[in-house]
Amino acid sequence: MEYRCPECQGECTQQGEHWVCEKCHKTMVLQPLCPECHKPLEVLKACGAIDYFCQNGHGLISKKRVEWQPAAG
Ligand SMILES: [Zn+2]
Ligand SMILES: [Zn+2]
Repeated sequence: MEYRCPECQGECTQQGEHWVCEKCHKTMVLQPLCPECHKPLEVLKACGAIDYFCQNGHGLISKKRVEWQPAAG
């Protein structure tokens, strides 16, 4: 899924833990959410790959299905 910049609606690309707007270069920290229960996902890092795991019974969530929301703080 893609994330749109709240400032300019530009397309954002993920760079490690951060997302960067391609238009205004705003940097954001986003929290991955389960698309089923909308609860925060556990981030599993292994061998350079990142997996997202729902602890509420939805198991591994593929990166394409993850929902993103701005992290608190
Ligand atoms: Zn922007
Ligand atoms: Zn879930």
